[in-house]
Amino acid sequence: MKSVAIIGAGITGLTAGFYLQRKGVPVRVYDASERVGGVIQSLRRDGYLAEFGPNTILETSPKIGQLVRDAELSSRRLDPDPKAEARYVVRYRRPVAMPSSPLGFFTTELFSAKAKLAVLREPFVPARTDGKEESIAEFVVRRLGQEFLDHAIDALVAGVYAGDPYKLSVPQAFPKLAALEQRYGSLIKGQILGARERKKRGEVAKDRAPKFSFDEGLQVLPETLAERLGNSLRLKTAVEFIRETSDGWELGVSGEANSREQHSAVIFAGTAHALARVGIKSQASISFAPFSEIRYPPVASVVLGFRREDVAHPCEGFGMLIPRVEGFKILGTIFSSSLFPNRAPAGHLTLTSYLGGERYPELASLPANELFELTCQDLRVLLGVKAAPTFQHCVAYPKAIPQYVVGYGRYRQLMSDIESKAPGLFFAGHYRDGVSLSDSIVSGCNIADRVELHLQALSKDGLGVKRAAD
Ligand SMILES: Cc1cc2nc3c(=O)[nH]c(=O)nc-3n(C[C@H](O)[C@H](O)[C@H](O)COP(=O)(O)OP(=O)(O)OC[C@H]3O[C@@H](n4cnc5c(N)ncnc54)[C@H](O)[C@@H]3O)c2cc1C
Repeated sequence: MKSVAIIGAGITGLTAGFYLQRKGVPVRVYDASERVGGVIQSLRRDGYLAEFGPNTILETSPKIGQLVRDAELSSRRLDPDPKAEARYVVRYRRPVAMPSSPLGFFTTELFSAKAKLAVLREPFVPARTDGKEESIAEFVVRRLGQEFLDHAIDALVAGVYAGDPYKLSVPQAFPKLAALEQRYGSLIKGQILGARERKKRGEVAKDRAPKFSFDEGLQVLPETLAERLGNSLRLKTAVEFIRETSDGWELGVSGEANSREQHSAVIFAGTAHALARVGIKSQASISFAPFSEIRYPPVASVVLGFRREDVAHPCEGFGMLIPRVEGFKILGTIFSSSLFPNRAPAGHLTLTSYLGGERYPELASLPANELFELTCQDLRVLLGVKAAPTFQHCVAYPKAIPQYVVGYGRYRQLMSDIESKAPGLFFAGHYRDGVSLSDSIVSGCNIADRVELHLQALSKDGLGVKRAAD
């Protein structure tokens, strides 16, 4: 039986490979890098555990808990300290706790009375009916007002996408928000009425979803999936072209121009910017070139450790988000050691800050010492840091997170068109199915199911794919 080729050993490709293998389908997973996990990177050093990519997985779908169980990682799963629920948004140049109840909303100093009234009026703002695709900024200003955009949503968008609310599209980047308006005519009404339907589907809203990590950080998940894949994994192997043959699919990989294994299907689970550089030869006329237009702004992750007594703020909670109007260089900070135990030595804490993104892309490529200094400057003002860090490490992602801008739907449409023109070629991952880690896991599960169906159809056509007995 020919194997399925999976390009990319980030969480999407590994999840797809793991489940296809469990279904009895042989796989071959290729990654250009020398390590698995893609943007997931955990480092244990000097008693600290630093996460440079994602810090937590949000359990928004039952498929996520299932993957943890199937990978036999339940005993290594870490749930956050319940005290770590508090989130802060910077206003008046200091972190202010986000309200966690309707009463809290009306008493918070985060918003003026005028902004609070605008929220009360939101259920009466008519839904847009002309079909125009709005940016997040347009949508929020129309429904909730400018202050809500400047002091809340701008910070949230920087936290999730490292993005610019004036460029990101509501239906593409926050589809659930767009659906709430379409379905219920209001975000607030939809939030209340939609909860029942989500429960029925077994889904959890992102703001309520349990979050978790693992004892040695998120890297545990890709490493475990990679172990299960064993010899099927080929690292330091960039796929340079994909060719359709009379017998299936063939890949050209770096350094091995003559070794062209035949595959029954190909899943591209890499990045959109890398896809644009992959050559494609197929019976249908296909080009990956348009994917080079997808923008991934750079982000630098700066992890600093401090002695507990050198930081005035208690740093209890998830972390703080920082709107652009507050004038800081960092986009936000996660209180990493307050979230999970064992992230810092006794009497110390770990703070993970992000710089760059669409807000200040030029900062992400600064030398490490300048990144440390800029971050410390902001943390002195925001958290009352009084001394130099006892631990410092940073990782820059030159192309971090794809921006689902207004018009992004054309790239998703192009992927669907290519899949129907060239059956056996599939696209999955953060550039198609949502930018969070949980979206990527679900994407990996779903693509494994779709490929299995494709192989079954091929098998009925007499091309002979054997299903393993369950
Ligand atoms: C700084 C940062 C912080 C984040 N924080 C969070 C967070 O807190 N919570 C959250 O839910 N999400 C977060 N995310 C997003 C989340 O981590 C990603 O969406 C998810 O990990 C993407 O997984 P992936 O497998 O789709 O892609 P990737 O992790 O990008 O993996 C793609 C892999 O494909 C390989 N590849 C590409 N092209 C080729 C080729 N031609 N041949 C061979 N290999 C190739 C690459 O080397 C890479 O290993 C963050 C992302 C970043 C960058």
